[in-house]
Amino acid sequence: MAIKVVKNLVSKSKYGLKCPNPMKAEYITIHNTANDASAANEISYMKNNSSSTSFHFAVDDKQVIQGIPTNRNAWHTGDGTNGTGNRKSIGVEICYSKSGGAKYRAAEKLAIKFVAQLLKERGWGVDRVCKHQDWNGKYCPHRILSEGRWNEVKAAIEAELKKLGGKTNSSKASVAKKKTTNTSSKKTSYALPSGIFKVKSPMMRGEKVTQIQNAQAVLYFYPDKGAKNNGIYGVYGPKTANAVKRFQSMYGLTQDGIYGPKTKAKLEALLK
Ligand SMILES: [Zn+2]
Repeated sequence: MAIKVVKNLVSKSKYGLKCPNPMKAEYITIHNTANDASAANEISYMKNNSSSTSFHFAVDDKQVIQGIPTNRNAWHTGDGTNGTGNRKSIGVEICYSKSGGAKYRAAEKLAIKFVAQLLKERGWGVDRVCKHQDWNGKYCPHRILSEGRWNEVKAAIEAELKKLGGKTNSSKASVAKKKTTNTSSKKTSYALPSGIFKVKSPMMRGEKVTQIQNAQAVLYFYPDKGAKNNGIYGVYGPKTANAVKRFQSMYGLTQDGIYGPKTKAKLEALLK
């Protein structure tokens, strides 16, 4: 049975503050509220306060409430004005995470079903589901992370999606492919260096680092989204390592922020 979404949308007069940009979503981002408020209270607080912080859905043990239309962006991932998380992802907050317990577990269960439903509606796979941490490193969803259950939650979403008859993977490869469709020399555009690249002193720099950064950027993993040239300037610093880490986390690789053969192979596979 489909989960009914209760709408309590932010007023249009607040769009400028809460959701200024039209959005064509490509991801779903999972959060924990780090609070013990109900979904109704989370949404009404978000709607009525004067902070820009916003999110699309809050889920508690009883219901799913929507505060922002899914065709507008919300400010929930801390990756900046032009960050992919903020500009391309639907934010889902799971309530009661501060204290946990039965109410939290029920909220998480409902959120898992709801996210599966969103994926099904969009024809997406579970590979579109991210955690807030993937975008800016914030320790969120804190309870899922501290309990070491992120993979379990994703697997549960995937299982629900299967029950709904949805696709279990999509997507990012095809997103990347779309971007390169009109490029005549795909291979040379995304040449990738061999060897190991990481943060060290003195910093590694040069054309090979730029190649890594360009390839990551095509897949929306910018070293410093919003900075000049998105931080792509051929220096392997902490921000590049962070972009590599986010990429690794999305594709099930060891999250060490070090570019090596496995990260290279994954990038190549996606950019082919
Ligand atoms: Zn969060």
